[in-house]
Amino acid sequence: MMKSLILCFLNLLIIFNINIFASENDKSFQEQSMLSVLYVQTSAEFEANNIQTYNFAKDILDSALSDNSWTAVLEQKSNYADKPPAIIIDVDETVLDNSKFQGRTIISGLSYPNGWIEWVSEANATPVAGVKDFLEYTDKKGIKIFYLTNRLESLRDATQKNLIKLNLPFDTKEKILLMREDPDVRDKTSRRELIAEKYRVLLLIGDQLTDFVSTDEAYVFHKERKKVAKKYDQMWGKKWFMITNPTYGRWEYSLYDQFPESEEEAIKYRKEVLKR
Ligand SMILES: [Mg+2]
Repeated sequence: MMKSLILCFLNLLIIFNINIFASENDKSFQEQSMLSVLYVQTSAEFEANNIQTYNFAKDILDSALSDNSWTAVLEQKSNYADKPPAIIIDVDETVLDNSKFQGRTIISGLSYPNGWIEWVSEANATPVAGVKDFLEYTDKKGIKIFYLTNRLESLRDATQKNLIKLNLPFDTKEKILLMREDPDVRDKTSRRELIAEKYRVLLLIGDQLTDFVSTDEAYVFHKERKKVAKKYDQMWGKKWFMITNPTYGRWEYSLYDQFPESEEEAIKYRKEVLKR
C-alpha cells in the first residue's frame, strides 16, 4: 500500500514535470550524472553499441517483412497479415541525441524540465549512431516509419524540423509523428494500437521499457522492473530493440523505495541500492 502511494506520487511528479531537486547553488546533485553523459558523448563503446543495434535491426527487418504472421506489437493479435508494414520508433535518445541538453543541466545545476523547451526549439539534436542508415534502409523497403514520442504536442513543429534537418525519412503526407496529446498520459499503448489498426508492425525500437510495454507494467520498483525485462526475453533482439540510455529515465525513479525529500536523501537511497 505504502509502495503504491509512493509510486503514485512519483508518477505525479513525472506527469507534471516537477523538478524535485532543482537547486542553482548546489550543483553536486546534477553532477552525479556527468560520467553517464560523457559516456554517451565521447565513448567509442556507446557508438559501437548503437551501430550494432541498428545493424542487427536492419538484418531482422528482411525476415520480418517476408513473414506476414510477424508482428512486434503485443496488442496486435489478429487480421494483420495483409496490412502494409511499418515500424514504430521512439524519438528521444533513440533517434535524437539530447545529451547536450543533459550537459547544460550539469553546468547550470538545474535538471529537466528547466531549459528543455529552449533546447527542443533549437532543433539541433544530432542523430544516434546507426539510426540514419537504418531508417533509410527501412524507407527504401517501402516500410512506413512511425515516430512515437512523449514530447508534448506543443513541440511538434520543432521536433519535425529537427528530424527533417537531419534528412531522416519523414512522410509529410501522413501523420507519422505521434506526440503526447494528453499531458497526463505517458502510456504509449493506445498510440501503438492506433498504428496497429492500419499496419503490421515489424519492429519496436526505443530506450525506455514503456516504448514496448504499458506504464502499468513498467512503473514498478527496480527489482520487479528487471523481471519485466526477463519476461519478454523472446522479444529482445528479435522484435524489440533497446537503445541504452544511462543518463535518465524511469529506471532512476524506480531506485527510490521511499520518496526522497532532498538531494542528500536521494543520494543516500542510491547508495543503499548500490551492490557491493
Ligand atoms: Mg526515448
